[in-house]
Amino acid sequence: MKIRGAVLEQTGGPLTVCELELAPPGPEEVLVRLRASGVCHSDYNTIDGTSETRCPAVLGHEGAGVVEAVGERVRRVRVGDHVALSWAPWCGRCVECLRGLTQLCVDVWKTTDASGLVDGTTRLSRNGEPVYHYSFLSTFAEACVVDERACVPIAEDISFDVAALVGCGVSTGVGAVWRTADLRPGDRFAVVGCGGVGLSALMAAVAAGANPVIAVDAMPQKLDVARSFGATHVVEWAGSPEATAEAVKEASGGGVDVAVEATGRPEAMEAAFLSTRGRGAAVMIGIPRPDAVLKLPALTIPRLERRILGSIYGSSKPERDFALTLDLYRDGRLPLDRLISHRMGLDEIERAFELMHSGDALRVVLELGGPA
Ligand SMILES: [Zn+2]
Ligand SMILES: [Zn+2]
Repeated sequence: MKIRGAVLEQTGGPLTVCELELAPPGPEEVLVRLRASGVCHSDYNTIDGTSETRCPAVLGHEGAGVVEAVGERVRRVRVGDHVALSWAPWCGRCVECLRGLTQLCVDVWKTTDASGLVDGTTRLSRNGEPVYHYSFLSTFAEACVVDERACVPIAEDISFDVAALVGCGVSTGVGAVWRTADLRPGDRFAVVGCGGVGLSALMAAVAAGANPVIAVDAMPQKLDVARSFGATHVVEWAGSPEATAEAVKEASGGGVDVAVEATGRPEAMEAAFLSTRGRGAAVMIGIPRPDAVLKLPALTIPRLERRILGSIYGSSKPERDFALTLDLYRDGRLPLDRLISHRMGLDEIERAFELMHSGDALRVVLELGGPA
């Protein structure tokens, strides 16, 4: 079928919105008519080369829509189901899946470089030439074909725009707090970086009863927003990791139990680590450049039992956690819709990235096929 999608022609850009051919779903694949896609920093990382992807590629990895067709062996979803998409399909057979760490699935991660679906082939083409997927999805388009295990059914009363965000940014932030850090009521909490992912972590900490809840960012307007999401204290980046961590320590009475880092910058990672108290954990969720190196005062690790926890996709299990997160949203305990600051069409994709960089946007959502 013919669809329109936003193609990254090569690292560095441009992004062109054009007509593409989308092949029908294979036996274990699903055709999803997309209704909304979030615009995430990881998409931009492929444009500026922080983390390259094979081009030409349709970007976008945070989507939701309606199942339009299914392959003959698909059992998890049916035509007409509303779904949020997961960018971490899994095999169920490898050593990591067998110990419950489906987000680390060895079989699927090793196919990532092929930039196709999990079998390594693409369903997208243009004038007979292959166009590649991004993160097994490609949601900057009117429709996508994805693996069955990338489709998570959601309730029909949930709007597609919120469901889309749960597909990446929200689950990354919320899961880091609830699943990776295992935060408990009364724990002292800080988040370094108050974009969509950082604010999701902050919301999860508030919902779980953390106190205090400290937001750190270099942009004062982001700190105002963080306050409106329940931050009890805010700390503006003080020019160095050490000075910033000192301010967090002062605000928290000596350091935090959980410090989430949501930018991927080594200096912010360092600040998160230095903000922890004894037995505290720095939870690293931002994606650094492949050549980034982190320098830490090593003695304080054993001396204070400080911990560093990596977290990919918030250590989430989409089948379990998407529904749980959306239930709490519906009940008003996670105001996820407040993350959406701008809605626009596919043709405005360049403007969406400009807004992301201006600091004036929280999350930009592309509305695909009518209002989400
Ligand atoms: Zn993302
Ligand atoms: Zn696996």
